[in-house]
Amino acid sequence: MRDSNKNLKIAVIGGGISGIMSAHLLQKEHDVTIFEASTYLGGHSHSVKIDNGIDQSFYLDTAFLIFNNLSYPNFIKFIKELDVYNHVESSEMSFAFSDYDKDLFFGIGKGFSDIFYQKKNLYNPRFYKIFFELIKFRKNAYSDMVNNRLNNITLGEYLSDYSELFKENMIAPTAISVWSLPNENIWDFPAETYIRFQKNHNYLKGFGWINSKWYTFNGASIKYINAFLAKFKGKVNLNSPVKKVKRFDQYVEVFTQDGISQKFDKVIFATHADTTLKLIDDPSKLEISLLGKWKYNKSIAILHTDSSLIHHDKKLHASWNIKIKDKKSTVTYYLNNIQNLKTKIDYFITLDSNIDIKDDLVLDKYEYSHPIYDINSIKTQRELKNLNGYLNSYFCGSYFGYGFHEDAVLSAKKVALKFGIE
Ligand SMILES: Cc1cc2nc3c(=O)[nH]c(=O)nc-3n(C[C@H](O)[C@H](O)[C@H](O)COP(=O)(O)OP(=O)(O)OC[C@H]3O[C@@H](n4cnc5c(N)ncnc54)[C@H](O)[C@@H]3O)c2cc1C
Repeated sequence: MRDSNKNLKIAVIGGGISGIMSAHLLQKEHDVTIFEASTYLGGHSHSVKIDNGIDQSFYLDTAFLIFNNLSYPNFIKFIKELDVYNHVESSEMSFAFSDYDKDLFFGIGKGFSDIFYQKKNLYNPRFYKIFFELIKFRKNAYSDMVNNRLNNITLGEYLSDYSELFKENMIAPTAISVWSLPNENIWDFPAETYIRFQKNHNYLKGFGWINSKWYTFNGASIKYINAFLAKFKGKVNLNSPVKKVKRFDQYVEVFTQDGISQKFDKVIFATHADTTLKLIDDPSKLEISLLGKWKYNKSIAILHTDSSLIHHDKKLHASWNIKIKDKKSTVTYYLNNIQNLKTKIDYFITLDSNIDIKDDLVLDKYEYSHPIYDINSIKTQRELKNLNGYLNSYFCGSYFGYGFHEDAVLSAKKVALKFGIE
């Protein structure tokens, strides 16, 4: 089906990257209004201004931070179109593992001195085993993926032949960092999603991962949000949580409060799948069956200046710092490293609501939710596109793919294509 009428009135619900991208494309031919529940546009692209009285004021990103040259072609095209590609600069993709339970400390991403941070590991066969198993994992995972042997298998089942050391110190920390997963959900994560993601980022074959160049915005992601706003011809309603959407054959009605509604020709749901389902008045069986399979995990991102959350030795500082203590993993993003900040104070994001950080070191807390990838939710991904068009409704979001910016952008491009817009 192709909806090619011009000058339609279109409501976009949700102002994250998927809503922004839909609005950016659809405004070329239509009259677009964005409804965003929060006080700012961007969703997980959430930059906050810091005035610490020492450095010149600057922006920190509190969720979306990085992308790369190989796996984000559509997002890169978008920011080139917005003329902000010149604000992109290199970022460091590095990890530091500090396992206090096992007295194991090493880093990945900066070279051998990092890997052998503890000299005793030069003579530790158990340490080498982690890397031998990594080589085995890369080889087998690639072949199992191309030969379709990953259907319906959880990461826990897939890794049943691997050592606990490899699982706990290599796979778990990367999954926790990349998907911000809670510890208890790691082993239920679909093996296929984990392995496809690794493959798409060139981590499974040869030295492909060395070719990945990671980027961040100089001046934070607010750069692209502001550039979008400067070019956007439509209307942006902030502080406007949509309560309900009623759909009819010829139009839709968007309710921001009980009894107060606006009529549009079409609606784009750029909210998370679970929210979208709640917003739809009288959803179809297909909508219930597909959107209903998605659950979300809430996490609290704490913005702070407490350096005790990462290793005390600067040599073991990385962009992503995983600390394992008393069997509990915590991920701390070292923002100065990721965003190339030269500020006198170090800034961190730790994803954990139960962590003890001195009150005076906490700058703020933000709640974010992530799609939970399990066997049931990923099964819906092949069919999600079939939701588009029914009763003037269209759907997009990062849950259409691996949960990242590129996935959200791609899903929005597919919505625009339905309207005949490239
Ligand atoms: C801590 C963290 C770090 C991340 N880091 C990266 C990274 O470095 N790189 C990367 O590619 N991805 C990263 N991601 C993944 C990120 O989620 C996606 O890249 C992408 O930003 C998701 O976009 P979205 O539009 O699907 O959802 P969102 O950005 O969540 O947008 C949904 C929007 O809908 C709004 N909304 C909700 N309910 C309503 C309502 N009723 N009415 C109106 N509006 C509503 C919300 O306020 C929100 O603005 C990270 C995620 C998190 C949580």
